[in-house]
Amino acid sequence: MAANLFSEIEYLKGVGKAKGEKYRKLSITSPYDLLYHIPRDYMDFRTHIPVAQAENEEYCVLKLTITKKLPPKAIRKGLVICHAAATDGIDDILVVVYNNVYAFHALKEFGTYYMYGKVTGGFTRKEIHSPVYISAESPVLIQPVYKLTQGLPINTVRANMKQALSLLEEMPFETLPEYIREKYELPELVWSLKNIHFPETNNAAEIARRRIAFEELLKLQLGMLMLKIRKKKTTSYIMDKSTDMSDFYSALPFQLTEGQAHAVDEIIADLCSGSPMNRLLQGDVGSGKTAVAAAACCFAAKNGIQSAVMAPTEILASQHYKTFNSFLEPLGIRVALLTGSTPAKQKAEIREKLQTGEIDLVAGTHAIIQKDVEYKALGLVITDEQHRFGVSQRAALAEKGDSPHRLIMSATPIPRTLALNIFGDLDVTSIRQLPKGRSPVKTYAVTGKKRDGAFSFLRARLDEGRQAYVVCPMIEDSESELFAVKSYAENAEKTTLKGYTTALLHGRMKAAEKEEVMGKFSRGELQVLICTTVVEVGVDVPNAAVMIIENAERFGLSQLHQLRGRVGRGQYESTCILITDNKNEDCIQRMKIISATTDGFKIAQEDLNMRGPGDFFGSAQHGLPPLKIASAYDISMLSEEVRRCAEELLRDDPTLDKPEHKAIKMDTLKFFNKEVVS
Ligand code: ADP
Ligand code: MG
Repeated sequence: MAANLFSEIEYLKGVGKAKGEKYRKLSITSPYDLLYHIPRDYMDFRTHIPVAQAENEEYCVLKLTITKKLPPKAIRKGLVICHAAATDGIDDILVVVYNNVYAFHALKEFGTYYMYGKVTGGFTRKEIHSPVYISAESPVLIQPVYKLTQGLPINTVRANMKQALSLLEEMPFETLPEYIREKYELPELVWSLKNIHFPETNNAAEIARRRIAFEELLKLQLGMLMLKIRKKKTTSYIMDKSTDMSDFYSALPFQLTEGQAHAVDEIIADLCSGSPMNRLLQGDVGSGKTAVAAAACCFAAKNGIQSAVMAPTEILASQHYKTFNSFLEPLGIRVALLTGSTPAKQKAEIREKLQTGEIDLVAGTHAIIQKDVEYKALGLVITDEQHRFGVSQRAALAEKGDSPHRLIMSATPIPRTLALNIFGDLDVTSIRQLPKGRSPVKTYAVTGKKRDGAFSFLRARLDEGRQAYVVCPMIEDSESELFAVKSYAENAEKTTLKGYTTALLHGRMKAAEKEEVMGKFSRGELQVLICTTVVEVGVDVPNAAVMIIENAERFGLSQLHQLRGRVGRGQYESTCILITDNKNEDCIQRMKIISATTDGFKIAQEDLNMRGPGDFFGSAQHGLPPLKIASAYDISMLSEEVRRCAEELLRDDPTLDKPEHKAIKMDTLKFFNKEVVS
């Protein structure tokens, strides 16, 4: 049988069992997959320079004719060196190839090549070392560079790619209908695949990439939107627009910011609309999402509808309970806390009251929406810190119950373009401003040499009555040099923090222990919390004004921003000191960004630019199919257009069953692994 695009990868010439395995390592099992192994860069052989201009130790492209090949020399075991004399027509240069007799043999005497490699030598004798080369007759002077794996050399991949492209030409296909391609100025798929691998001009590569990235983002959007459409369109929980909220506002200890008020308006409109709300409320740490959520719960309670507030940890659940209770209890709204550590008797009582409707609002971990918890009228479900719940959990939640309204709060603000992708199944409200009178947390990045200074600063603030966090990346000592909270705390008690009350907090402690420590800290009975990132999520202690983060290089930008958000929550000026000895360029860049700005949306954009979308789309976090092609740049540039395109497609054909939409539907299902959309 002749090979075709969907044959096993081993059908390609020169791909045997060994290379086949290497390809499979890269998740490439067929020529088709190979075509979507997009170059991570290009080598541009058009930029060649004369030998005379090549500087010592410089990587450059030369156009050379081989004048004489010398026999390979075995220098010692495991080292064979080959030499060839070459010229650019004016100056001579020696081509040196190490341990690659195969590549050397492929060079022909009197053949002319473009060679890219490191040039050494000054005026006397120049050499070019282990060059990558192509024949000067090659029509394509821009050569792709791929992510490779050991045992899969670039020339093999290029040769295999050419064959895969010729298979594509034998059975060309297209996934996007012509009217879409015309409208969004997208070239044909076959042309795009050819030109993304072997472009004739830079421009062709860019146009091809845009088309392929567009298609990938389109599949993502279509999947998300089909999910949104599939959800039930009606809800029995229709609330009354004219519900009087004045007592809520007058009991509130502050006035809502404009952003908060706007968010409340949008939510109330949803609650009264007759369709279930599916809204993401995103705002920086400290932007006051809780008060917004409390307003929503209050509105629901006044309409005789129960609310559930879910948090990812018990600490956060009990804190929510306290906050909601303080806002709502004075208004006669009955609030309860239900978690794994609630005593059995109390649990039974709470369940009973949820069933009879004697409780209006329950806060807890997601145990509160398990099957065995029954509600009289659960019409509003709020989840906090949504980045811990992925798209498939969201889908599962949406299927539950009687189409309740959902509000999802996230303290990981993300740029709108990314939100369109990650939360494409939701409506989005963003709170972009912080309550007045809050001064931004001063942030400094220092090396370990300044640790003593950092701690004397911290002690001075403790002496003024403030509290502090010290964050380490690890729990126990390990072979790495990273700081671990346990030994760090032990040490600090005897040295830097001697005479101050401190406590440990980390994820491996029992829930009750954690609760106790957090309780003490928030009541001011402890001065310093030495902890891992468990404090990341939602902890609110306004008196905490200093945070020291050890091994700051271990944390991503968004994570640092989250951590820092634990301080600066009250009226006190707050400081965050990042300690790292890491000299990595990436790390230095991150420290610069985090020190320079406190705007979470900006930080998220920088994070996206630095890390690329892969990390944001990690399936662990969001449950989304990984993006292989679209870069951070593509996402910023294309998302709005792609969203529009997806909406148009589905408006015209909600199930994508028209013949011209079949191909893109198939691809979308495949992309989502059939889980989400089918
Ligand atoms: P988020 O959950 O968005 O991180 P919180 O809801 O925990 O933020 O609010 C942070 C702090 O700001 C809380 O102490 C809260 O009482 C206070 N706060 C919220 N809204 C306002 C406001 N409009 N004016 C003043 N303080 C506010
Ligand atoms: Mg919060």
